[in-house]
Amino acid sequence: MKQDNPKDPVRWEEEVWPSHPLMERSGIRRDTYLNCWCPSCGASLNQNGKAVFHIVNRTGEEGISRVSPYLNILDRESTIQVDDDEELIDVRCIHCGVSLIEPGRLCRQDQCKMVRVHFSVQDSGRLSLIFCVRRTCRWYTMSEEDNERLIIGESYEW
Ligand SMILES: [Zn+2]
Ligand SMILES: [Zn+2]
Repeated sequence: MKQDNPKDPVRWEEEVWPSHPLMERSGIRRDTYLNCWCPSCGASLNQNGKAVFHIVNRTGEEGISRVSPYLNILDRESTIQVDDDEELIDVRCIHCGVSLIEPGRLCRQDQCKMVRVHFSVQDSGRLSLIFCVRRTCRWYTMSEEDNERLIIGESYEW
């Protein structure tokens, strides 16, 4: 699903990154496809154009969630019931089963748990991305070091 006005970056930054200057500086385009990897076993989490996770909802049910691997898109399908504003109990790698929840890290917007994955764009190498487990919360962050690498890499067309 594409947005209506792909060439309207100001509005896009306001919408996606209302209060995060680091991400604004990196300038990742909203339609950039992210290749996601498990930080533990290193396997790819992308399948058929989606990033796939093993999830546990708040009632303890386990299922599979397929997420559009674009920063701006909320599209997500799950095999179990997950409310839009629900804080998932756990998010795990579909390959090795290791929890991707970043210990001790809470979302700055709503104090929810956060998920850490590795991702790459074109030949950027593997970078760390940390995002909120709650679907309607779009807060995410990267390490300062990784973000500097993106900013420095001016050859990237994104
Ligand atoms: Zn894994
Ligand atoms: Zn959040």
